[in-house]
Amino acid sequence: MKTKSLCPECLEVIDAEVYENEGKIKIKKKCEKHGEFNDIYWSDAALYHKFAKWQYEGKAGITLTKTDKGCPFDCGLCPEHKSSTALALIDLTNRCNMRCPTCFANAAAAGYLYEPTMEQLREMMIMLRSETPPCPAVQFAGGEPTIREGFVDIVKMARELGFVHIQVATNGIALAKSEEFCRQLKEAGLHTVYLQFDGVTEGPYKKLRGIPALKTKLKAIENCRRGGLKSVVLVPTLMRGVNDHQIGDMVRFAAENLDIVKGVNVQPIAFEGRINESERKKGRITIPDFIHLLEEQTDGEIPKESFYPVPFVLPVSHFVEMWKKTPQLEFSVHPHCGAATYVFVENGRFKPITEFIDVEGFMEFLLESAEEINKSRIWKIKTIAGLISALRKFIDKDKAPKGIDSSTLLATILGIGNREALAEFHRKTLFIGAMHFMDAYNFDLERVKRCGIHYATPDHRIIPFCSYNAIHRLSVEKAFSVPFHKPQPEK
Ligand code: SF4
Ligand code: SF4
Repeated sequence: MKTKSLCPECLEVIDAEVYENEGKIKIKKKCEKHGEFNDIYWSDAALYHKFAKWQYEGKAGITLTKTDKGCPFDCGLCPEHKSSTALALIDLTNRCNMRCPTCFANAAAAGYLYEPTMEQLREMMIMLRSETPPCPAVQFAGGEPTIREGFVDIVKMARELGFVHIQVATNGIALAKSEEFCRQLKEAGLHTVYLQFDGVTEGPYKKLRGIPALKTKLKAIENCRRGGLKSVVLVPTLMRGVNDHQIGDMVRFAAENLDIVKGVNVQPIAFEGRINESERKKGRITIPDFIHLLEEQTDGEIPKESFYPVPFVLPVSHFVEMWKKTPQLEFSVHPHCGAATYVFVENGRFKPITEFIDVEGFMEFLLESAEEINKSRIWKIKTIAGLISALRKFIDKDKAPKGIDSSTLLATILGIGNREALAEFHRKTLFIGAMHFMDAYNFDLERVKRCGIHYATPDHRIIPFCSYNAIHRLSVEKAFSVPFHKPQPEK
């Protein structure tokens, strides 16, 4: 398949081809000035083709820039963009209380300090809330956002501006230091702690972060628990040969802490800046690798068939939009950006939702029903009770976990009916997902045009994540930064 990518040396847009070779999907491209580049795109061609079925053309919830130099230089969002903001990111500072060898973005290394003012933060959040439909979720990031002065007030501001989901991406150090801080964040309205968590032993931390950090992570989780923060998502940066042997153990660790850990969201490593080819090939890992390793390391309890791409759930939005007659957020991101599933944990065993629900049949039913309602035909199912009964055919009752009313649960996923069923679902399940952020080596413009994870910036733009990190970050930060003087050691 022909597409466009970036030259990793000069970052110009160049032609690229995504092609199949020996059961894998690869990307190749040639820059007239810097030569040829080849990388792995998806390591399982069969899974690639399966996921490709769920590609949709969505639309942006707001347009803020014009079509001029072409993608990805027109961000954004420009008129060509094909997804609304599902999750917004706002960097609060580029200072950090760690010095990870894999990160070149912190203030000490960059030599400048980037910290948007409170007024700029408010403007960015208002801009996100003015999308159609309003952006529902914001994640504070950095640097390390928890060391930003006034962080608790920033969380409160997000809540006042109507975000229904507020989360923080953190290394956990500040949370590990203070239970009281966790309590304050809970009271301010923080919902989820997106905790950098690379393994269940110290080895991966020493390699990826330069220090043993496991004890800090465990303390952070304990303080969240005591402070009343009831949702932690573990976020491992996955690198081949470093922590890919611990995927099963990390998921088991999450299951053992299900009272507070609600998910594991894996991020296969993206290589920022230049890296030599052998290092890149050694460390590169893609979404199918993760899915296969998880299957192996859970003795087949979470098989590869449990996973679906992000846009798989788009029929839910269509259906709810028609049923409730209000615009809904569409998860129209590219099918090869991410994969996810939900698993129940029953008597120490994993039971993926796909083991007892015909999820594909359920989604088809929603698409057909949405169309019927839209055409104003008399839709045969008029009541909530009727809908719940229609959903029964997608459930294998004998295989369903005990104590779960699955058809009520499906109706609740549609935002219709019993909230207690949804709460029960979240108490007993674990979200397992992966998103592979792109670097200049595997960059695909078809993916970034459909991105739903967007940075808000102080110059009133909304910039897709992978475009921001590959192209725009430096110029935005420099335009809004001051020189950074490293703290001098005390004499
Ligand atoms: S990534 Fe999206 S917003 Fe940015 S230039 Fe491309 S289409 Fe436009
Ligand atoms: S952040 Fe990158 S990987 Fe994720 S949806 Fe956007 S383009 Fe895809």
